Amino acid sequence: MGRVRGGAPRLDHVFGSPSLTSRAAPLRMRPRTVVAPDPRLPRTVPDGTEAVVVGGGIAGVSAAVVLAERGVAVTLLEAAPTLGGRLGAWPHTLPDGTEQVVEHGFHAFFRHYYTWRAILRRLDPELGFLRPVGGYPVLSRTWAPEDLTGLPAAPPLNLLALFARSPSLGLGDLFGSDTGLASELLAYDRDRTTARFDDVPAAEFLSGLGMSDRAQAMLFEAFARSFFAQPKELSAGELIAMFHYYFLGNPEGIGFDAPDTDYLSCIWAPFAAYLDKHGATVRTGSPARSLVPAFADAHRWRVATDDGALTTRHVVLATEPGALRDLFAASPEAVSAAPRLAAKAAQVAVAPPFAVTRLWLDRDVAPERPTFSAVSREPTLDSVTVYSRLERPSAQWAARTGGSVVELHSYACTAPDVDAATARMRAELAALWPETADAQVVHLQQRMEATAPTFPPGGAGSRPLPSGEARGIRVGGDHVETPFLTGLMERAAASGVLAANDVLAEVGAGPEPIRGVPQRGLLAGLLGRR
Ligand SMILES: Cc1cc2nc3c(=O)[nH]c(=O)nc-3n(C[C@H](O)[C@H](O)[C@H](O)COP(=O)(O)OP(=O)(O)OC[C@H]3O[C@@H](n4cnc5c(N)ncnc54)[C@H](O)[C@@H]3O)c2cc1C
Repeated sequence: MGRVRGGAPRLDHVFGSPSLTSRAAPLRMRPRTVVAPDPRLPRTVPDGTEAVVVGGGIAGVSAAVVLAERGVAVTLLEAAPTLGGRLGAWPHTLPDGTEQVVEHGFHAFFRHYYTWRAILRRLDPELGFLRPVGGYPVLSRTWAPEDLTGLPAAPPLNLLALFARSPSLGLGDLFGSDTGLASELLAYDRDRTTARFDDVPAAEFLSGLGMSDRAQAMLFEAFARSFFAQPKELSAGELIAMFHYYFLGNPEGIGFDAPDTDYLSCIWAPFAAYLDKHGATVRTGSPARSLVPAFADAHRWRVATDDGALTTRHVVLATEPGALRDLFAASPEAVSAAPRLAAKAAQVAVAPPFAVTRLWLDRDVAPERPTFSAVSREPTLDSVTVYSRLERPSAQWAARTGGSVVELHSYACTAPDVDAATARMRAELAALWPETADAQVVHLQQRMEATAPTFPPGGAGSRPLPSGEARGIRVGGDHVETPFLTGLMERAAASGVLAANDVLAEVGAGPEPIRGVPQRGLLAGLLGRR
């Protein structure tokens, strides 16, 4: 793995120029170079270096892009017919004959996703396909919407402005709360926060804060559920880390962008072409079935596929967590040869199912509805995205038909099946946005699956690392423990790049630099150890 450092060399050629907001942040809160380039090492790899990457989501493609650019002969195996994994997208014909691309679901591309954005810059250095989404309101049946939009970007001003402005967080919350516990949110420090809070359920931590029910519901619970877990099943250590990552330690602010067209057109088709241009072989519809050590053959691995085995010195396993577990379960010899990694794969934690339903409605939603809304305290519905106000193909369909395209998400779904999930989410939406109650559904796409990782209390230390746990095997994905703070898509991209860096290090090439957020909170080091 490349060196992890605190210094900040200028890496604008990799990451784009620093944003105005991150430059305005106090020094302690500016972006950090967490893996520095090493100009003493060659950029390209020795002739004959090859690698097999298993999994073509963000993690696998990020690893493949970095490796292929450095001259590694990459074979990327993807089980599904299309690249992208949980960000994947595929063509779909509507009943009226319209060709549309549908996706796993709306994704917020946060501005502090430095690694993922650097990978996306390979496709468009200006990231011209990303547009600001324009808001982050939290909706509820009980309370007025809480809008996190327009807060100052940098901490601690964002926190102070939130208390001053928020209808949910009054001074009573500030003075009535357990300030010792609340200050833990500002004092994130990986070792200390993990030691103190990993075993504690997020729900217990939140109720211990002593804030009003409204503040808990509108600010913390909706946030916790976007990590695919009910607050009682999420580690408070992870919640504090993610609160630091997305809010208090995020130099770019809480605003985010989203592609203005479908993910297939702007991300996955261009990445397939980019990889092809760099000599990589991308095999979709081609699952890796098992791994067999071939150590007699210079410490290589055989990756079995339906079309025969690939023998390789360097494997990157970039599957979702359950698939990693299944791959080792199908590979008894790999379990013996890589016991530490196999043990972690066996106990990897998979989140409850998420449900995503896209509705093509016969009418528009009210004009004042935001493009994206988080939802608090509904049993099923966690977010609503008005696709026809987000991306071109849906907007064109809506303009032609007078309808709208609306997507509903449930992140830790308790419905017994996808039909029930859709019915519940529709009913909950109708309670929030009454104009949708009588809307006719012209068409719907729905899916429910359990492929996300989860971070339960007591789980720290049990997750695979990007490298160092099995000779020749690296691991990428949003379930992987990165040595610096990351989340969701950025965790996937950063772990993929770290996996690639480990391959580069083994063959003597320099690492791909990585930038991250400040790794400690404003109050870190100031609170006593308890
Ligand atoms: C509904 C929804 C909304 C989300 N919203 C956001 C958001 O707003 N912001 C955000 O940052 N993140 C969001 N996420 C999370 C984000 O999608 C993930 O963090 C990210 O896509 C994970 O990428 P990955 O590469 O780790 O895994 P995946 O995308 O799961 O990729 C793994 C790939 O491995 C393949 N595979 C599995 N087994 C094999 C095998 N044996 N052989 C070959 N291939 C195999 C799979 O088919 C898959 O393509 C959301 C996720 C969902 C589901």
